[in-house]
Amino acid sequence: MSRSPLLLGVDVGGTTMAAGIVTRQGEVVLEERVPTYRDGPGTAIATLIELITNTRAAGDQQGLTVSGIGIGVPGPVEGGRIGEPVIHVPELAGRPLARELIERFALPVFVDNDVNALVLAEWMFDRSRSVRSLVMLALGTGIGGGLVLQDRLIRGAVGFGGELGHVPVNFDGPPCFCGGRGCLSVYASSRGIVEAAQARVAGRPDAALLKAAGGDPQAIDTPLVFRAAAEGDAIATAIVDDACQALGAMIATVVNGLNPEVIVVTGGLAEALAPLQARIVKAAGEYAFVRPLAATKLAIRPGDKRFTMRGAAALVLYETVRGEAVR
Ligand SMILES: [Zn+2]
Repeated sequence: MSRSPLLLGVDVGGTTMAAGIVTRQGEVVLEERVPTYRDGPGTAIATLIELITNTRAAGDQQGLTVSGIGIGVPGPVEGGRIGEPVIHVPELAGRPLARELIERFALPVFVDNDVNALVLAEWMFDRSRSVRSLVMLALGTGIGGGLVLQDRLIRGAVGFGGELGHVPVNFDGPPCFCGGRGCLSVYASSRGIVEAAQARVAGRPDAALLKAAGGDPQAIDTPLVFRAAAEGDAIATAIVDDACQALGAMIATVVNGLNPEVIVVTGGLAEALAPLQARIVKAAGEYAFVRPLAATKLAIRPGDKRFTMRGAAALVLYETVRGEAVR
């Protein structure tokens, strides 16, 4: 049997669910994955329960006994109850998931927003262990954010703390899929970048970006846009410039408003953005105060599902060590 109690961390994504048995130092010692909608629409919760059951059983066979379960979900969470919207796993909205799973598994269960989990992994296990204030921006299909300020995870009054993806960076910008306008996600998420590219090539059959996608606007994706921009394509360059400028404005908002020690940019777009760091910092410099910007360490680094499952495990530690759990 394992001497030190282990944790079970789960990342619930719109495409994949990943569960891992994680040590208290953040090492993943066993991992299972399953497509979120393997059994069809509306089945994510049944699949989640099966994934937890199977991962726990696989751990038990190897003497890896877990003492708590953490779950990161792609939406706002208030006291273990999932709020709205949960765009990519809609049946989670309104579920008191923590309470349901505590009853089912007879273990402590903690549920939080996936980027809140991610920022806890960075802060409790990884490179930001020594800092007290850390802001994470996760840029993927959409954009999530996580805030640790002066040694506390900031959830806000109703679970929206850190929703930086839907903070406007352009007050008369285009409508956002959240119902707002000019949000960071309009400019710097995969969905926003692809929609901007499709809008700009519409009615322009000679556009090189469209030709590079085989003439099919639906085939445009973010790697294509970033590659075309690097090769000098005018439409793609304008879109990538907007992404850098919007991200710079958000970094300035964070720097001026929260003054953290570290800002980590991660998620599926981080790899494409890393070579553009100097441009992003320059854009931030157009809006931020000089002194706090100079004092902020900006790190752009790719992440994956494994990071969020570790974060969900960190959530269990964070809640049990601090005794702040609200179920
Ligand atoms: Zn929005």
